[in-house]
Amino acid sequence: MIQQNPVMRICISCRKTFDRKNLLKITKDHKQGIMFQNGIGRSAYICKSKKCYSDSKIKKKLQKALKTLLEPEFIDIFEQELSSYNDFSNKGI
Ligand SMILES: [Zn+2]
Repeated sequence: MIQQNPVMRICISCRKTFDRKNLLKITKDHKQGIMFQNGIGRSAYICKSKKCYSDSKIKKKLQKALKTLLEPEFIDIFEQELSSYNDFSNKGI
């Protein structure tokens, strides 16, 4: 019987714990900079709750979590990413 325990991560906005599959992962990759759902480096997770991903302070929270400064264009890219992840759970890594 193979049963994998879900990997649990904390949403940086509401601080609740979720199965990683249900979160959007933002990574500060060593080489490529900010990446979504991919990349190696310091990562932050945001849950599907609209309250969290549309939080006006989300950029600040991400900067703190990733220990980096995000470019002004980040929010545009972030919103584009979100719209392409209508259902994050279908986008396993
Ligand atoms: Zn959340």
